[in-house]
Amino acid sequence: MELINYTEIMVKEQLEEVIMSSEVCRCEQCKLDIMAIALNNLPPRYVVTEKGRIFSKVQAFNTQISVDVVGAITDAVNKVKGKPNH
Ligand SMILES: [Zn+2]
Repeated sequence: MELINYTEIMVKEQLEEVIMSSEVCRCEQCKLDIMAIALNNLPPRYVVTEKGRIFSKVQAFNTQISVDVVGAITDAVNKVKGKPNH
């Protein structure tokens, strides 16, 4: 069994898509900064799951929070774009 932060999985899933549709830098530093900012602005959602069985649980949450997640990533992208740390 493992404890996972479902919000973190969602952010990882959506990150590439949001980055690809914006003009932000795509280096490792900027991607991680975007993730950190987005995750600090979203509530964590911890779930206990058997390894490899994340996705059935994950999908139940999907529509509910994906709008929030994309919004937080978009805000983070705009912050990093304005003031990159690299
Ligand atoms: Zn960069």
